[in-house]
Amino acid sequence: MKKTIIANWKMNPVSLDQALHLAGEIEKRTTGIKNAEVVIAPPYPFLKDIGRVLKKTKLGAQNMHWEEAGPYTGEVSWRQLKHFRVTHVIIGHSERRIHMGETDEMINKKIKAALKANLIPILAVGEQKKLSENAMRLVLSRQLSRGLAGITAHDFKKGAIAYEPVWAIGTGRAATPKHAGIALRMIQKILAGLWKTKKVTMPILYGGSVNSKNAADFISPTMGGMQGLLVGSASLNATEFTGIIKSSSPESF
Ligand code: PEP
Repeated sequence: MKKTIIANWKMNPVSLDQALHLAGEIEKRTTGIKNAEVVIAPPYPFLKDIGRVLKKTKLGAQNMHWEEAGPYTGEVSWRQLKHFRVTHVIIGHSERRIHMGETDEMINKKIKAALKANLIPILAVGEQKKLSENAMRLVLSRQLSRGLAGITAHDFKKGAIAYEPVWAIGTGRAATPKHAGIALRMIQKILAGLWKTKKVTMPILYGGSVNSKNAADFISPTMGGMQGLLVGSASLNATEFTGIIKSSSPESF
């Protein structure tokens, strides 16, 4: 199964020239890679131009509004994203939950709208601080059950979940692959319960201070076993990000 590797550029870089250069380098250095689906999620103002330079790499958005259009100052709708070759959309990133007051209910509306618009939602979940396994299960259960309320396994078949412990994001202190693996199995179990199914097959990604040195361990079936990665800071450096993609998608995985 192809690994999904997503670059979340957040509110970076500051200029279109830099953004185009970075996207071009990533595209150029990863053309021969077969086992990874690479997605770049730049800031909104760069979507159009970056969409034009990407060939194999997919274009993602970092957020979207659930309405098609209307009085929502500063927002961008799923309909508007469709003009820019966007295929994926990150929904419920912890920075939006924390700084923008995004709730599970808003996230749920966004996922429903994304699915209707044929955009692939990447639902981000994760606990804010290090917790016991039981407490962590409660947080993940709440985020998943509310975020996916009214959405069936069939509806979400193309979607993905990104497990991103907030304490590991942007800190340089990634979770251990073992911890990510525990979260992966926990999420699969929660989803299996929600959807009353035995097997959950959608990709579950890890995000939080991934770099070219630790990426392979998160993906390795004998360590983390994750099906992809969501990468913030390290995706702003073409060499680092390419290193992450190459080390997490060898032929043997
Ligand atoms: C993120 O923003 O989703 C993220 C994982 O950031 P970082 O890789 O910088 O921790």
